[in-house]
Amino acid sequence: MPFFGDNPEDFVIQAIQRFVSDNPENGTSRLNGVPYFENPLVGIADASDPLFLTFKDIIGDFYLTPVEVLEKSFPEHKGLWEGASVISWILPIARPTRERNRRETRCSSDVWLLTKTYGEEFNIKLGEYLASLITEQGFCAVVPTLTPFFEIIQSEQHGFAANWSERHVAYAAGLGTFGLSGALITERGVAMRCGSLVTNLHLKPTPRLYSSAREYCLFSTRGTCGRCIERCPGGAISSEGHDKELCMIHCASAVQEIEGDSMGMPGCGLCQTAVPCEACIPKKG
Ligand code: SF4
Ligand code: SF4
Repeated sequence: MPFFGDNPEDFVIQAIQRFVSDNPENGTSRLNGVPYFENPLVGIADASDPLFLTFKDIIGDFYLTPVEVLEKSFPEHKGLWEGASVISWILPIARPTRERNRRETRCSSDVWLLTKTYGEEFNIKLGEYLASLITEQGFCAVVPTLTPFFEIIQSEQHGFAANWSERHVAYAAGLGTFGLSGALITERGVAMRCGSLVTNLHLKPTPRLYSSAREYCLFSTRGTCGRCIERCPGGAISSEGHDKELCMIHCASAVQEIEGDSMGMPGCGLCQTAVPCEACIPKKG
């Protein structure tokens, strides 16, 4: 009997939360004691949820469903994926880092960029840790973005697009809905990094407490707010949504403008701070 016990969902959630709260690698001395991330949110989706098939229509045929990820990763198990699950996590960016970025008007603060760059390395370690924890118990587990077949391609419909989208997975796992800026609005807002893992461990899916893909965005549901349009120095957000190419052009050019150590990394992320959805689901009142 694996050590997951009677409540494997709680076991997985607590394992992720402990990894973030107890780990000295969640931060760097350059952040003066501020961690990269605060307490994570965790959601679970059924790997066979038909919603994943609809992502192929939205993103493109190249987009992989969780079952396809399992088939590619574990070809010897073909056809044995009933009850498989997707675990998705949200790592909220720490408050002092968000507060620092609110003051910026052209490009990221250096602490935001540190969190984005090295925090992402920590996010990868979290995925590897979770995969090894589940694998040690005799189950299959894979982090799709760490597989050799993960790729970003140029799609006719959507420009640059990956064959696995953490935001779409988090949406399927009940963790939030999309904003005008393209970010996922979660209970802890849009200022976050996210990750996911696919496993044949059977877990109870998290209910999706929304009925449309943009339910939490004030502009999309009420025609109000639009603060992310004003915040974007690259003109990449409009009432039509987020233009990835304009965003990339601005982020690349912003490298030279970052005060402190930019590490040569492109950065901006201004649409994730000083907006009503920065750290919560914005109130509709
Ligand atoms: S800032 Fe306002 S309009 Fe933009 S994503 Fe957030 S809620 Fe939607
Ligand atoms: S959309 Fe891109 S360029 Fe605009 S604020 Fe967000 S990250 Fe910056």
